[in-house]
Amino acid sequence: MSKVLTVGEVLVEIVATTRGDGFREAQPLIGPFPSGAPAIFIDQVGKLGTPCAILSRVGDDDFGRVNLDRLVADGVDVSGIEIAPGESTGSAFVRYREDGSRAFVYNITHAACGRINTTPGGDALIETCDHMHLMGTALSAPGLARRAGEAIERIKARGGTLSFDPNLRPEMLGAPGLREALERVLGQTDLFLPSGEEIFLFTKAQDEAGAVAELLARGIGEIVIKRGSGGASHFSAEGRTDVDSIPVEEIDPTGAGDSFGGAFVSFWLAGAPPATALAYANAAGARAVTRLGPMEGTSNRAELDAMLASHVEG
Ligand code: ATP
Ligand code: MG
Repeated sequence: MSKVLTVGEVLVEIVATTRGDGFREAQPLIGPFPSGAPAIFIDQVGKLGTPCAILSRVGDDDFGRVNLDRLVADGVDVSGIEIAPGESTGSAFVRYREDGSRAFVYNITHAACGRINTTPGGDALIETCDHMHLMGTALSAPGLARRAGEAIERIKARGGTLSFDPNLRPEMLGAPGLREALERVLGQTDLFLPSGEEIFLFTKAQDEAGAVAELLARGIGEIVIKRGSGGASHFSAEGRTDVDSIPVEEIDPTGAGDSFGGAFVSFWLAGAPPATALAYANAAGARAVTRLGPMEGTSNRAELDAMLASHVEG
């Protein structure tokens, strides 16, 4: 069975329990929740029983341990997570505003996960993996971009595959060298997983059909567009498949795209037809939004089957 590798930030998320504008007064909080887009993705892959691992770095503190414990429990190989004595595990404080937008206080760049290094353990781990999943956010830190690039080269050189989720906020795009790094990765991508408007990050075309055609013509084999509560669509040379979202009560949308991606990649690597992978990924995204905390809504196979069954009957 293919083993999936990802690289990037492992952090805790602490969530304000009331809605409002940011953190300028004392307020009730809940957390720490295990988090980090690559960590959520790989946790979802692990829960589906697909062999998987993550290259990252945490401090020797409880915020690191809360992540390590969860990832291990869900089947993720954490041998590539370096524990850095004297450093702090990354963190993000998030508060939802009344309109659903979010305010963040981040401690990531200068935390342990901001200095992911080449280690002998990490190098050995790359050799055991035959699929790489990259989050665009991992390319915004220069050291991390280099590390990710090396892993991609080595996995692809052995005949492995690459999936790529840009997962970028527009304000990040100005970072030096980021656009070039993204373009390089896109040129090696087999499965591209943008959210909504991210499909236009790399295209001249400004309409979706044109953008999809342009990307397929570049040699990207398959494209999956995530549309939040609008569902998702899969495109390849064979055609197009759409899925409506499953109606659920949205408690916390953070992590939906990462859970969706983890489920899609697991089924895709197992050789499932696009419609099947899309259905399970859609169920994983729907379950993700019903739980408070970014990684709390990842799902095992039985939970996804139950979600799909209740939707058919309902
Ligand atoms: P993030 O980066 O915040 O994790 P994203 O923007 O990458 O999220 P979304 O498009 O928000 O990803 O969500 C991914 C998928 O999850 C959607 O395509 C859909 O299948 C499912 N999903 C998201 N929101 C909902 C919702 N409110 N109800 C049902 N399904 C949802
Ligand atoms: Mg996303």
